[in-house]
Amino acid sequence: MPAQLLDGNAVAQQIRADLTDRIAAVRKRLGRPPGLTIVLVGDDPASEVYVRNKLKTAEESGMSVSLTRLGSDTPLDRVLAAVSALNDDTAIDGILVQSPLPAALGDDAEQQVFDTISPAKDVDGFSPISAGFLAQNRPGFVPCTPAGVIEMLERCKIEIEGKRAVVIGRSEIVGKPMAMLLLQKNATVTICHSRTRDLPAVCREADILVAAIGRPGFVTQEFIKPGAIVIDVGINRVTDAALAKQLLASKPKRLSLFEKNGAVLVGDVHPDADEIAGQLTPVPGGVGPLTIAMLMANTVRAAELAADAAN
Ligand code: NAP
Repeated sequence: MPAQLLDGNAVAQQIRADLTDRIAAVRKRLGRPPGLTIVLVGDDPASEVYVRNKLKTAEESGMSVSLTRLGSDTPLDRVLAAVSALNDDTAIDGILVQSPLPAALGDDAEQQVFDTISPAKDVDGFSPISAGFLAQNRPGFVPCTPAGVIEMLERCKIEIEGKRAVVIGRSEIVGKPMAMLLLQKNATVTICHSRTRDLPAVCREADILVAAIGRPGFVTQEFIKPGAIVIDVGINRVTDAALAKQLLASKPKRLSLFEKNGAVLVGDVHPDADEIAGQLTPVPGGVGPLTIAMLMANTVRAAELAADAAN
């Protein structure tokens, strides 16, 4: 039987609907809607799309939004100064600096930016303070993608407690916080990475397998225990015709989309995983929409905390 697909769009809609009353309450308390601002440095085309989608969703949710655009040749100290000015702006509750920053800003530019964002406005949850709160199981801003995965599991009534969970990927923004959240929910968690030995065998132990790698179709059937829950965080734009053919051999509809558009989005999980997994998040339409929904939730929370502090 093919895997049941976990519908990220439907769950994201529920999360956003649940925010409506809270947004109205913030409006009353602060005399303004929750405010989200995004800093976009450079002109990376994928970032342009992500930023547009985030701002559009926030606006449709009834928040106020703004965008600070900085050229790709902006020096790091000016980027940090822009973030500091936003920290001081009382009309802004949440600050997001879109990744990736231009490579010319240096290897530790993102870290310096995350160090500069006020922890009270860190709606992406990437600051060391937010990471510390998460590690200590204290309330704080949790990175949106892993927070969205937990929301999806809970809203789809998938039990986490006592399960064996395996997370492939140990990035600060997905893998590590994902593992931490699963641990908080009482799963028994293994984190895998590029040096893990016999990765398929480790993954086959998982009742819940999360793939956050950045390699299209990497997780093949041999990684998956029959009936497992498979969460595919990867978003990879495949433009290579031979690769698209290989990945989508059993998915003629998606292959014809590739032939029409010259590109197709594929997750880190091989599309044939649906023959062996019990439940599976599709790409697109799985984890992606949840990330934006959780950004909205974090921004509303930041505004509520600002209102608490003002009273
Ligand atoms: P990242 O920072 O590049 O981290 C990738 C992780 O995968 C690293 O920990 C790396 O291990 C591990 N890895 C790479 N090759 C591996 C291999 N052959 N075997 C085992 N592990 C391997 O990526 P990320 O930012 O976490 O993102 C991961 C994916 O999620 C990307 O496709 C990204 O586009 C997607 N993403 C999606 C959303 C969403 O909204 N759906 C949000 C964020 C990211 P090492 O640490 O050993 O190098």
